[in-house]
Amino acid sequence: MSDCIFCKIINGEIPSEKLYEDDKVLAFNDINPEAPVHFLVIPKKHIKNINEITEENSEIVSHVFKVIKKITQDLGISEDGYRVVTNIGQNGGQTVGHMHFHILGGRNLVWPPG
Ligand code: 5GP
Ligand code: ZN
Repeated sequence: MSDCIFCKIINGEIPSEKLYEDDKVLAFNDINPEAPVHFLVIPKKHIKNINEITEENSEIVSHVFKVIKKITQDLGISEDGYRVVTNIGQNGGQTVGHMHFHILGGRNLVWPPG
């Protein structure tokens, strides 16, 4: 997707603070952090959001969660706890139309979110 900012981050057109990368996913710090730890994990393949998950592409979701487990362990926040959020569409507050998982940690998070 030529006009997608996360595709541009994947191909290096827009710089980012990368935490992890492999052939399927990229993890990078959110530009506007809402917590001491706030990074995003995105598939390298452009998928708009969970509404576009199918039998053919769903294995990316389990891969994303394995990567989240690894990074949160590396950052030392797994035991204290953290939150994984993915926003879908307008009511979900999705502002970037490339599926992404927010990982928030490093402070006590309130529930429910707004
Ligand atoms: P959404 O609101 O779609 O769930 O989340 C989009 C997230 O992407 C926001 O938290 C926003 O701060 C982040 N973001 C938007 N543009 C950029 C960017 O160019 N670089 C980085 N690192 N994060 C971005
Ligand atoms: Zn994209």
